[in-house]
Amino acid sequence: MEIFLHNTLTDKKETFKPLVPGHVSMYNCGPTVYNFAHIGNLRSFILADTLRRMFEYNGLKVKQVMNITDVGHLVTDADEGEDKMEKGAKREGKSVKEIAQFYTDAFFDDLKKLNFLTSETTYPKATDHIPEQIELIKKLEAKGFTYQTSDGVYFDTAKFPQYGKLGNIDIKGLREGARIDVNTEKRNPTDFALWKFFQGEGKHEQEWESPWGKGYPGWHIECSAMSMKYLGETFDVHTGGIDHIPVHHNNEIAQSEGATSKPYAHYWLHGAFVNIEGGKMAKSGENFLRLQTLIDNGVEPLAYRLWLLGAHYSTPMNYSDDAMTGAENSYQKLKHKFLELGTTEGEVDEDLQQTFLNAINDDLDTPKALALFYQVLNDAELSNEDKRSTLLDFDRVLELNLSSLTKVEIPQKIQNLVEEREIARSKDNFNLADGLRSEISELGFRVEDTPDGPKISKK
Ligand code: AMP
Ligand code: ZN
Repeated sequence: MEIFLHNTLTDKKETFKPLVPGHVSMYNCGPTVYNFAHIGNLRSFILADTLRRMFEYNGLKVKQVMNITDVGHLVTDADEGEDKMEKGAKREGKSVKEIAQFYTDAFFDDLKKLNFLTSETTYPKATDHIPEQIELIKKLEAKGFTYQTSDGVYFDTAKFPQYGKLGNIDIKGLREGARIDVNTEKRNPTDFALWKFFQGEGKHEQEWESPWGKGYPGWHIECSAMSMKYLGETFDVHTGGIDHIPVHHNNEIAQSEGATSKPYAHYWLHGAFVNIEGGKMAKSGENFLRLQTLIDNGVEPLAYRLWLLGAHYSTPMNYSDDAMTGAENSYQKLKHKFLELGTTEGEVDEDLQQTFLNAINDDLDTPKALALFYQVLNDAELSNEDKRSTLLDFDRVLELNLSSLTKVEIPQKIQNLVEEREIARSKDNFNLADGLRSEISELGFRVEDTPDGPKISKK
């Protein structure tokens, strides 16, 4: 069964041909751990997880690497300004190591809540791979790709004629039209730092010895060094958010292909943004929405996954509280309906499975796959058992955590309170009924009045 992926490198939907038949090597740009991930960041990671699931559904074995950036990512893409990690540490009055650890833990906590497949993924940290980054810079230096300025070692993009090929960046226009660069020592505006020199006491907490003196690596080099260390000089798939196309990913290609003279990643996939009504999602300010913010608003993490699945990964999405409440309601209804199918397994419907495969293999068409999911859930012909098995099969990719759903046990105490409330209602004692509803609510349950009587669910 063929898989088609839209490759940013060629701007075409291509048939996926892995380097080694039956295997996929994939690198995903991960978080910079100077703050919590916002839900936009999480979208780009969910794309990586869903891709992995799609490959595995096709029977492919996936080797996956997602980096953790804990040094060198400056506040601008132009190698200027503060290191985000140092900025985060100052903000919190802690050491860089402390905040890196704290936000790395928070990142894994989010992945867990969103049911990521993490056990076989490698999560290398930039600061654990300084020697590998230095080696790569040395290789580039030996091949004549670098030059030094007063503040660092730079990659000379003019020496890499294909620079800007990803996303077809208008480099000529960029170079000609560039405003006066802050860094006047750079030969070309697109040149970027491979190694930054130590700037004097108190300026940068993390620094290492190198052949060019004390300093720290530029941000881009970590991804080249770590992807090639774990996946080889050429690998299959590289992902990230759409904002990485013009600078970060073109820089990765220039460094890696410059050093090895081999193709770097074959397929580049980029996830569109989650925007917030009236503004950009940021890791600071009021537009900072974390997974925990959603949870505090009564939205289950997987309701967020469900919401994302409703759009293709290349389509920008607009967050609003209403949209998220809608997703939460849909997720609760979906779970409820699924539970009503009972617990007996049937057969996976092979025709439906094929239709599902066609959808996900068509550049991860999750809206189509999700529509099919609902179609099966509401199908009048299929037996409950077959529906259950077919939906569980689809859930290997969609990951709505259906397999661990069980009927919620309603504690006796709650059942008693609900009964008391029914009696109060039948006697028109609505004050008492409302008080009992509050008591039930405080114990973590919700009671809804339906024509068939009260329905109890866990909050
Ligand atoms: P960072 O932690 O800033 O290094 O970003 C982690 C990932 O999130 C990168 O792949 C970014 O491209 C991606 N990203 C950043 N902002 C958004 C957003 N609003 N929506 C979707 N992805 C984003
Ligand atoms: Zn990267």
